[in-house]
Amino acid sequence: MEVDSIDCMSSSDVMDEEAVTLLHHHPSSKPHGGGAAVPPGISPAATSVHELLECPVCTNSMYPPIHQCRNGHTLCSACKTRVHNRCPTCRQELGDIRCLALEKVAESLELPCKYSSLGCPEIFPYYSKLKHEAQCNFRPYNCPYAGSECSVVGDIPFLVTHLRDDHKVDMHSGCTFNHRYVKSNPREVENATWMLTVFHCFGQYFCLHFEAFQLGMAPVYMAFLRFMGDENEARNFSYSLEVGANGRKLIWEGTPRSIRDSHRKVRDSHDGLIIQRNMALFFSGGERKELKLRVTGRIWKEQQNPESGVCIPNLCN
Ligand SMILES: [Zn+2]
Ligand SMILES: [Zn+2]
Ligand SMILES: [Zn+2]
Ligand SMILES: [Zn+2]
Repeated sequence: MEVDSIDCMSSSDVMDEEAVTLLHHHPSSKPHGGGAAVPPGISPAATSVHELLECPVCTNSMYPPIHQCRNGHTLCSACKTRVHNRCPTCRQELGDIRCLALEKVAESLELPCKYSSLGCPEIFPYYSKLKHEAQCNFRPYNCPYAGSECSVVGDIPFLVTHLRDDHKVDMHSGCTFNHRYVKSNPREVENATWMLTVFHCFGQYFCLHFEAFQLGMAPVYMAFLRFMGDENEARNFSYSLEVGANGRKLIWEGTPRSIRDSHRKVRDSHDGLIIQRNMALFFSGGERKELKLRVTGRIWKEQQNPESGVCIPNLCN
């Protein structure tokens, strides 16, 4: 027995190392011996390891640091900060006792990724699980709408419906576009002037953003495309944007950014077509009293890397 386990072992009815090992190797089997393997504060019926690790106060899973009172009642660290140093089970002073044996169980358990219901098949020990979940490809996406803080998250089909129904975003099919942006008072450039259009092509969804903002002291317009999916998939696509009039034209060619990157991050990295206001007014023609920009663009799929894919002769040229 390691010395650092003493705290937890001070209570006679906390599970012993043997029970821990047993539970770890047979997560689905029920521990025998009844009360002896179940820490106080948790109902004797709670016999699976996951139930054992359930905080009796908030019922979330407990992970290190796991605390216990002098009588061995366990609780999670979030609840510990909330209970004003009183054990919620026996009302005794809580103190600062860790339950290291239970912490070891929690660390050694292999748990499914929290996005398993969204399709992730991965299983990890606790700390690797946390790391993985921050990067998991199945984690939900944030709503890509840029006009206000929107806290909606979900998968792509859900967000497409949400953009259409809740944000009234324009939906288009096809991989080419021709868009007019008209603004009556081009002298006003607030940071929050933006527009979003969603394009559906190649079985994927793309967000075309257009907005006006201050770049340093200068008002500019910017258009860029975001891919509704992960970054590695976004790299399979390219897009071009064109704006012009009177024999001049600006062309931008780029790779759409994943909506994993926030709208703001993409804007601040200037990864798109940036039009100075003077040029924008010039392209608008007329009396410079109105902003009238025609942005045309195209989205295409990049040829697969010949080493990574099978080339079907009829389709490759
Ligand atoms: Zn808790
Ligand atoms: Zn207690
Ligand atoms: Zn995952
Ligand atoms: Zn939204």
